[in-house]
Amino acid sequence: MASHFIVECLDCGHKAAFIPSNPICPKCGSPWREARYDFATLAHSLPLQLPGRPFDIWRYRELLPVRSPSPDLSLGEGGTPLIRAGNLGLMLGCPNIFIKDERQGPTASFKDRQAAVTIAAIKEAGITEMVVASTGNVAIAYSAYAARAGIKCWAFLTSLVPAAKMREVALYGTQVIKITGSYDQAKQIAAEFAAQRGFYLDGGAKSVPNIEAMKTIAFEIAEQMTALLGPPSINNGNGQTAPWRTPDWYIQSVSGGMGPLGVIKGFAELSAMGLIDKIPKFGIIQADGCAPMVHAWKQKKDTAQPILAPNTLIHTLATGDPGRTYTLLHQRISRLTSGAFEAVTDEEAFRAMHFLAKMEGLSVEPAAALAFAGLVKLVRSGEIKPNETVVVNCTGHTMAIERNILGEGWAKDLDVEKASSMEESAEDGLLAALTHVAIDRFPRIAIVDDNPDVRRLIRRILQAQGDYTLFEATNGREAVELITNELPNLVILDLMMPELDGFGVMDALQNNPDTADIPIIVVTAKELTPAEKNRLKGHIQTLMQKGDFMSDDLMDEVKALLG
Ligand SMILES: *Cc1c(COP(=O)(O)O)cnc(C)c1O
Ligand SMILES: [Zn+2]
Repeated sequence: MASHFIVECLDCGHKAAFIPSNPICPKCGSPWREARYDFATLAHSLPLQLPGRPFDIWRYRELLPVRSPSPDLSLGEGGTPLIRAGNLGLMLGCPNIFIKDERQGPTASFKDRQAAVTIAAIKEAGITEMVVASTGNVAIAYSAYAARAGIKCWAFLTSLVPAAKMREVALYGTQVIKITGSYDQAKQIAAEFAAQRGFYLDGGAKSVPNIEAMKTIAFEIAEQMTALLGPPSINNGNGQTAPWRTPDWYIQSVSGGMGPLGVIKGFAELSAMGLIDKIPKFGIIQADGCAPMVHAWKQKKDTAQPILAPNTLIHTLATGDPGRTYTLLHQRISRLTSGAFEAVTDEEAFRAMHFLAKMEGLSVEPAAALAFAGLVKLVRSGEIKPNETVVVNCTGHTMAIERNILGEGWAKDLDVEKASSMEESAEDGLLAALTHVAIDRFPRIAIVDDNPDVRRLIRRILQAQGDYTLFEATNGREAVELITNELPNLVILDLMMPELDGFGVMDALQNNPDTADIPIIVVTAKELTPAEKNRLKGHIQTLMQKGDFMSDDLMDEVKALLG
């Protein structure tokens, strides 16, 4: 049966039918091949088909390497939401940040796209056993889909993979093999084992179904951006405008680089079909202790020097040798668009876990948080402009929160029995116990700002990271009255307000001996003139620029001033 696609060799250009059990070029033996489709026809037919289809990855089935997708194998993969990150946008001064929430896939990471498509393709080809080397999430995803498909899975995991992840893999019925060694070594051993036994080996970025699966992220982002913001208005110069919108940036944390390689192919295909005008810039983020691609990119090289001993606590991202995947990424990003490769520390990624959870309600694993730490870095360095639209791939949450993420003191202990033994009645005992949880002498802070979004943001920052009694005032006059009555321990003050502005508030507080010594943090949206800066002198402890501080910057100031 003729298929709807062929595979083309990246080395000799030979075109052949796709046979999953034989993943190399029949002419030259190269394992690097890519799927090609009939884009001229699809440019017309696909947009007509889409409106009637569910929002999952099989919506794009004409562009996937599976002949007849089986609903029986599906776990509802793809179709993850695109969420606006309003609070993060406010903190960064970059209002158009969107999160592609891949945590909401069936196995809680974007690897379930890869597993869904690959398992469908190899099941169709009659394959019954497969081998995968993994830093955790790929093995979990394959294990789930292999279970549904009746395929036996062998997972080679480095001993650094968290025990909770390993147990999940085993729970699905996969045979786990623990490797004491690096991820790159685990890959070698898995390949030898698969060759010996004649089993299908997951080929990572070399695998046709894997790359095809990842490109659906690009398709979904373009459709979702268009639904959220409307079709693009910019003309592409020849009198026509493509119907779908793309963001200015796609940002992802990267280990081996298979995700972005697939995603850029997806955007290139949309462009080939005339559905989009512009391919986003790529923000590739790696962990400081394992950033071979970042080093190579910054030195303008097209091959990456392998890192032999990755040094990061974020094991999901510990691919030391990206091999040809980097070379292809370098080539395509340079040719089709542009990009920025950036490294951030583990510490920065852990901080990002906190602000995502506390400010956006998203609990993510460290590997996903690292992309957001990269976003902060790229915005602060000016690489990402305030008016640009950004989509960050929130790649996953497949783990329980480990001890080192939270540190000590994250829960309060309440021993009802001990407390009640000291009181007359059981009820008094309970109330007494509760006073240990919620003492009523929390530091008192007044938030003064006429913009309700800013008040909500600051309130949220304070309430998520400490215990405070909070007051709010919406203009200067109200503020002076509130502060004189409540005598808070700290004031967070806006400058530009109706009625009485921030300068007026400071003068009023200064003239009253009861309020003159209350520390003030000024949070302002405007650049101050030298004269204004002069007026502030002696009044305030800290000046912060709106849209240019993160939650923990403000918290550091608050804690320092409260002593
Ligand atoms: C696999 C993975 C990555 C890295 O993806 P690549 O595109 O393969 O480099 C990032 N985050 C999470 C959660 C992952 O599972
Ligand atoms: Zn070839």
